[in-house]
Amino acid sequence: MRRRTFVAAGLAFAATPAWAVSSTGKEGRLTLKGTMEQGSLVLGYAEPQAAVLVDGKPVRLTAEGVFAFGFAFDQAKPTLLSVTWGDGTVETQSCLPVVRQYEIQRVNGLPQNTVTPPPEVLARIRAEAEAVYLARQRDTEGVDFLSGFDWPAPGIESGVFGSQRIDNGVPMTPHFGVDMAAPTGTPIRAPADGVVSLSADHYLNGGLPAYLHQSRRLVTEGDVVKRGQKIGEIGQTGRATGPHLHWAMNWFEMRLDPSRSTRTPKPDPL
Ligand SMILES: [Zn+2]
Repeated sequence: MRRRTFVAAGLAFAATPAWAVSSTGKEGRLTLKGTMEQGSLVLGYAEPQAAVLVDGKPVRLTAEGVFAFGFAFDQAKPTLLSVTWGDGTVETQSCLPVVRQYEIQRVNGLPQNTVTPPPEVLARIRAEAEAVYLARQRDTEGVDFLSGFDWPAPGIESGVFGSQRIDNGVPMTPHFGVDMAAPTGTPIRAPADGVVSLSADHYLNGGLPAYLHQSRRLVTEGDVVKRGQKIGEIGQTGRATGPHLHWAMNWFEMRLDPSRSTRTPKPDPL
């Protein structure tokens, strides 16, 4: 019943698609698009000839000169952008994300072996974490992220990004995803065009790293998927108390809030 409280809190904001928000650099030619909050993905619009550093590190630009970066969920310092334009001029911009307030969420009734895994599965969990880490290091030329994301499943938003989780009384890492509770078997659809980088059954997570707890996985590594394509079905595998989709998003190792990059309104419960 406690989860209901969070549903109400979750529905109280963000009725409009988050992706619609944009902000223009105060000076210069660089334009940024995103909600500009902790945990949000930001798109920067430069030019094809530009070279861009994010906190001193070079980032890949698309053929049109667009790049992406993220704000960490707890980021308190500005991100420094440095753009060297094709004509040699350098533009710098300091971007401080809006601070968010995160909830504390207590979840009870989880399978205890997923909260405190038995010693014999620790090697498996480590190997799975390594596979996820490697999948997140990929830096490809894909531009599918430019068009924003659709909500991948209907349902009740039963968990929000960034909340401090206390699972079966044990403090855990924050909840880095959005939970959509819906019956087992509810279709999960690709929120954008893309390529599947990892598809596996994991001890804690079940299903895909970014679309967790699935009862059926319908895609495999390397598959090219289209926006709206059915990629799996909601389930209750791994660390879960009921059937739901845990939707997560990363910029490399940085955990981001997918609900801040959506172009469609939050779906209605089934
Ligand atoms: Zn979750």
